[in-house]
Amino acid sequence: MDKLFTPSTVNKIIQEHDFKFSKSLGQNFLIDEHIIEKILISSDITKSDLVIEIGPGIGTLTAAIAEKAGKVKAVEIDKKLIPILKETLENFDNVDVINEDILKTDLKQIIDNESKYAAIKIIGNLPYYITTPIIMHILEAKLPIKNITIMTQKEVADRMKASPGGKEYGSLSVAVQYYCEIVPVAVVPKTVFIPKPNVDSFILRLDIREKPAVDVLDEGFFFKIVRASFSQRRKTLLNSLSSALKCSKDSLEETLVNCDIEPKRRAETLSLTEFARLANELYKNSQ
Ligand code: SAM
Repeated sequence: MDKLFTPSTVNKIIQEHDFKFSKSLGQNFLIDEHIIEKILISSDITKSDLVIEIGPGIGTLTAAIAEKAGKVKAVEIDKKLIPILKETLENFDNVDVINEDILKTDLKQIIDNESKYAAIKIIGNLPYYITTPIIMHILEAKLPIKNITIMTQKEVADRMKASPGGKEYGSLSVAVQYYCEIVPVAVVPKTVFIPKPNVDSFILRLDIREKPAVDVLDEGFFFKIVRASFSQRRKTLLNSLSSALKCSKDSLEETLVNCDIEPKRRAETLSLTEFARLANELYKNSQ
């Protein structure tokens, strides 16, 4: 099998199989060896790792991962890619392709069935239309994984790693930073994909924290408060929270002041520690 990452090989494979790219499935296939190398180095894969790959496409990244990992489980939704993957990955006996929607895949079961591996890592050149649901699906499942190396739209990566104070900072930043330490890896130009997407991409590594970044009394309640705070981000925290939670402004103002948070501030200025303090105080009041 020729090297999969060259444009001529990718074009040859898709022509031979009469494969039509699906825009709605976010199909942009990698054609650059250096980007693959960056993903592999960032993920730091060894033979004692089980790697779950999201969306293998025609198997370009999968083959490179399989050379380094103990085992690869590659989850691909598009059944038209399954015969192609069978062909491109025929020389690897450590890859299982699972024809499923990653959002419906029982990742815990996959991990439980492969218990001999020392570390579990997730890698994906993600379909851009569902980046956030995929990341939240993995993080909320609280799986025993070490890290997640993803390629995503630069704009989404910017939102994940944003600090308080800017327009990129929002519920996604808080959620990802609550569960993970974020390691920015590289900007990826749109020219390294077939077909070429409209925007640049970014590789990020998310290292799963041993315990979340802040202590909260109730995780569900914490995220409810974060979402409510950002529901009308132009408004003050007092206004957006009182309308989203349907509670009186007076009592909310008192709680904010007790938490040392000026009620006129906007959600985008609050740190994770401040969100946790506020959510914990509101939770105590609600009991
Ligand atoms: N990994 C390949 C590469 O880098 O060349 C393909 C990446 S492409 C951006 C995203 C892949 O995810 C496509 O193969 C697409 O069919 C697949 N995909 C889209 N939605 C999916 C889902 N819900 N579950 C699993 N795979 C999905």
